[in-house]
Amino acid sequence: MSSLNISKSDQESLCSLKPVFWTNGAFCDQSLPINVANTSELYEAADRFLRFAPVLERLFPELSESNGLIESPLLEVPLLNKLINSLGGSLYVKADHALPVAGSIKARGGIHEVLCFAEKLALDNGLVNGVLDDYSIFLTAEARAIFSQYTIAVGSTGNLGLSIGIAGSALGFKTVVHMSSDAKEWKKTRLRKRGVKVVEHDADYGVAVEAGRSEAEADRFSYFVDDERSSHLFMGYAVAALRLQEQLKHQNIPVDEKHPLFVYLPAGVGGAPGGITFGLKTVFGDHAHCFFAEPVQAPCMLLGMAGDLNTDPTPVYEYGLTIDTDADGLAVGTASQWVCDVTRHLLSGVFTATDKQLYQHLHSLKSLENIEVEPSAAIGCQGPLMLNSQAGQEYLKTHRLLPLLSDSTHIAWLTGGSFVPKEEYQRYLDKAVMLQNE
Ligand SMILES: *Cc1c(COP(=O)(O)O)cnc(C)c1O
Repeated sequence: MSSLNISKSDQESLCSLKPVFWTNGAFCDQSLPINVANTSELYEAADRFLRFAPVLERLFPELSESNGLIESPLLEVPLLNKLINSLGGSLYVKADHALPVAGSIKARGGIHEVLCFAEKLALDNGLVNGVLDDYSIFLTAEARAIFSQYTIAVGSTGNLGLSIGIAGSALGFKTVVHMSSDAKEWKKTRLRKRGVKVVEHDADYGVAVEAGRSEAEADRFSYFVDDERSSHLFMGYAVAALRLQEQLKHQNIPVDEKHPLFVYLPAGVGGAPGGITFGLKTVFGDHAHCFFAEPVQAPCMLLGMAGDLNTDPTPVYEYGLTIDTDADGLAVGTASQWVCDVTRHLLSGVFTATDKQLYQHLHSLKSLENIEVEPSAAIGCQGPLMLNSQAGQEYLKTHRLLPLLSDSTHIAWLTGGSFVPKEEYQRYLDKAVMLQNE
């Protein structure tokens, strides 16, 4: 425990379920032997989404307006800004809770990985000879005959399973999703309706992933999407940064030495927020400040980032935590070491929040801005409040950001919710009200 780069008082807070704002000591550390994520892979991922856009548009009619691109708007939230941002500048939300096809941020990484696999099979089998060929071949019976021989498997707390299951089955693959005990019933039902095989595990996310991995390893025709160490997932998420750059430009929101950008990203195993951080730092360099947000019961990325390069991340269980949180998308006990090592010098810090705080934000998003999210997605809204904590102020001071705050932009990344059934969402709202009155 003591080898982690976490102060004694923060360790005590972590153990007693009190929120912390942890500043990453390795941030900007040029001496780190960096595990390089390749920038060219980021642009290749962006190109892949473009190549497949006509295919995706045919498979998913909801993409007709965006010409086959899976994207969400960047929304200004002035009322929420007043409520939670006393730092200055403007608050926006990135509306990935409403990403088409999968209804969560997992649409970015998950669908990208399915496309990578389909593209590889198509090249290996001579369906296409190169990336300039006509990709409508992916919609033919000939392609489906090949894809249907293969099974795509994944372990998930719910949303990654939805994304892989929906995209994989649409292209004609067999799909198997190993669900952790946190996974919501409606997510399983939705998948089964699409012909996805759902295997339920009475265990946490790590066990579900391991089950999927070993089952897939035994089968030559099985492809395992490894959420703990997949560069395909990571780069699919990272493309969000290129799209965000366009949106900011389009909405005349500057990001430069006079206009810092603060981004608050809900983190589970780390792939989605890590990929987006990698993308944002590639695009904006020092002007982007990325923070991960985790439930007090599951600060696995905090423990992972506070460890050393090339060492196993510390599981939250070693701090007596039980990942008991309503933020099912973030209920992960051990971080991805791969993501920790790739983003170690890029990430500004990690903060934690209680479920009560999540529910407060879930409620404010609805009542002030009419935005409906699942509990996991609301956690980013705690960002401006935590950056205003003593430790947050220290960060701002160290990086000479205090004089720039009135010209700063803050983005709370909303990560899931648009597929949540109405009754389920109402229960979230009821719980928010109940907790407020406690
Ligand atoms: C998966 C997920 C995240 C975090 O992504 P990781 O890659 O697990 O870190 C955040 N919010 C929601 C709603 C998710 O489903």
